[in-house]
Amino acid sequence: SVHTTGAISITSVSKSFGKHKALDDVSLELAPGSVTVILGPSGSGKSTLLRSINHLERVDAGFIQIDGDYIGYQRRGDKLYELKEHAILRQRINVGYVFQNFNLFPHLTVLENLIEAPIAHRQLTKRDAVTRAGELLDIVGLRHKADAWPRHLSGGQQQRIAIARALMLNPRVMLFDEPTSALDPELVGEVLDVIKKLARSGTTLVIVTHEVGFAREVADNVVFMVDGKIVEQGNSTQVLNNPRHERTKRFLARVL
Ligand code: ADP
Ligand code: MG
Repeated sequence: SVHTTGAISITSVSKSFGKHKALDDVSLELAPGSVTVILGPSGSGKSTLLRSINHLERVDAGFIQIDGDYIGYQRRGDKLYELKEHAILRQRINVGYVFQNFNLFPHLTVLENLIEAPIAHRQLTKRDAVTRAGELLDIVGLRHKADAWPRHLSGGQQQRIAIARALMLNPRVMLFDEPTSALDPELVGEVLDVIKKLARSGTTLVIVTHEVGFAREVADNVVFMVDGKIVEQGNSTQVLNNPRHERTKRFLARVL
């Protein structure tokens, strides 16, 4: 299929925490349906960049667009005005977010974890939410766990549920922040398999991960960050097999 939505455009974005520049003039263009892996040492600004794409961080300079819409802002003339909370929440429907630590609601069953927010926010009827949840549980291979409690699932299963939950409103863009870093090694593969399946579905994916083998296999683009800057970007073969930047070389030598 041909995908026409999910283009991400990041233009000259900077973000400081006190005196520390977490993002320093970052620009990045991601095509609809593309898969991008972000690599970089701890503290290089990867999470801040992902959070900014969803306006969970308000950037100090620059702007981010998804399919031309300014995230967190509305353009009038040549000025950007911050959107009201309800309008920001409406934009966030286009973006699914998956964190390292799953963050499932412990007091809700698997099915309830999926349907709770879309029903509460009146984004789906209960009937549609249950239907959609069933389809997604099939995709992540966990339909048989619909009535289970999160604490009775493995970390890998919990993360697959978190991915299904993030897909409930059919986002154009999915952001993953170290989705396998909290997992026992033997559970990493099942989560990466679900992300690979998604990669073939045409949703634009941006994934912060240290899984270089996965990046090699699945990523269209690989981005390498150091100290809040993108020091290298290109197709996965280029960046992973033939890195130009000294920091990329050293990083790859350590994780490979
Ligand atoms: P990464 O995800 O690559 O490890 P982060 O984006 O989390 O890096 O952090 C980049 C830098 O910004 C780090 O130096 C971190 O300490 C700092 N930082 C991130 N979030 C905050 C915050 N909310 N308050 C203060 N400093 C922060
Ligand atoms: Mg991080």
